[in-house]
Amino acid sequence: MAINYFKVINHKFGHNFGDWILKLFAQSITTLLGEYGELFKLERDEFVVLIYEFNDIKEIEKICNEIHRCLKKSFQVTGNEIYISTSLGVTVFPDDSSDPDKLLKFCNFAIYESKHKGKNMCTFFDKQKSQSYFRKILIESELKNSIINNEFDIFYQPQIDALSNKIIGVEALLRWNNDKLGNVFPNEFIPIAEDNGYIVQIGNWVLDKVIYTMHKWKERGTQVDSVAINISPVQLKRSDFKNKLLGLCTKYDIAPSLLELEITEGTLLEICDDNIKVFNQLVESHINIALDDFGTRYSSLSYLASLPVSTLKIDKLFVDGIQHKKNKILIKSIVDLSKSLNCKLIIEGVETEKQVHILNSLGCNIMQGYYFSKPLSKEELENLLANIK
Ligand code: C2E
Ligand code: CA
Ligand code: CA
Repeated sequence: MAINYFKVINHKFGHNFGDWILKLFAQSITTLLGEYGELFKLERDEFVVLIYEFNDIKEIEKICNEIHRCLKKSFQVTGNEIYISTSLGVTVFPDDSSDPDKLLKFCNFAIYESKHKGKNMCTFFDKQKSQSYFRKILIESELKNSIINNEFDIFYQPQIDALSNKIIGVEALLRWNNDKLGNVFPNEFIPIAEDNGYIVQIGNWVLDKVIYTMHKWKERGTQVDSVAINISPVQLKRSDFKNKLLGLCTKYDIAPSLLELEITEGTLLEICDDNIKVFNQLVESHINIALDDFGTRYSSLSYLASLPVSTLKIDKLFVDGIQHKKNKILIKSIVDLSKSLNCKLIIEGVETEKQVHILNSLGCNIMQGYYFSKPLSKEELENLLANIK
């Protein structure tokens, strides 16, 4: 269990006062426990109660309620009346684990849950809920050294003109292989990297790696006409983004017009007018902008008027439901919209021949998906391009 806001007490009244409170708190809980259990002190404001025997988990619940009730009374120290509360977490030996370290870790997780739910609470450890929490913590800590340890790679998924069967470009997709976690897909680790800001370093690594690879392709005479790179809103908000990107194009002697930045509709909601100015400057430098996952979120069509978008990407969701009339109507209207706006249109997640036929009949010809090719390693893509020649 953890005492809530103990830091505040220490800060306000001093450490000696805090120690008195801890003593009084310990005395009250020890008296309350009687012969049912024992109280141990861990960190400064953290304690463990060991209950050695019980017949029903309800008995533990009762003790937790008693602890909360007992703390409703104030502590009197040097004329001050102090109220404290605790966040409780419960784990059961051996049901949850037989390993003391794990039990403590699980207790901490349950306490964290109690704090989140409103502090003066008791939470029983729930293995299922905790697994995603612990995985998130592990991903976060493993991401720290992922660049130095060379754990990232870029795969490239071809974009095909289904009428001519030609590769018109590729999308760069990040891959992460970590010793402890194995392969982790971007949908899982990118939101975590965005939360803690690592995405900026990771995104810079992606830009450097992809543009360097394009430089190598140019040297070898491998022709790739367009390379799309996914960009997070966190990257876009950095004031140095444009200069970094254009700087890499100069460093590796790559024409900016070969690059397409993929941003999602969600990104547009997060950015401000200054960021839109950056987009315009990028487009003036001949960089292309693609609107990814178009139609899945809050498609505000006004963005299409104010933003210099050159490509719309229709999400896999529409292809999955393509047998339904309404989906066909929606795809057809996006096809018409893209034509009127003079935008390239790419449809993602095409998996079957039947889908290809329907899409062709709707006037949607540039496709990306497992039917044509999964994302390929750099070497696999190079082999594919060499064999096409
Ligand atoms: P996205 O940009 O929408 O990328 C398309 C995703 O669909 C990719 O997943 C791709 O492998 C997958 N895909 C392509 N064709 C098919 C298909 O026919 N069937 C199925 N089931 N899936 C298909 P991936 O590589 O796991 O990437 C997931 C998301 O992670 C991407 O979605 C993108 O939003 C993000 N992401 C990937 N790389 C980066 C990156 O370098 N930076 C940032 N910020 N985000 C990235
Ligand atoms: Ca994308
Ligand atoms: Ca997409």
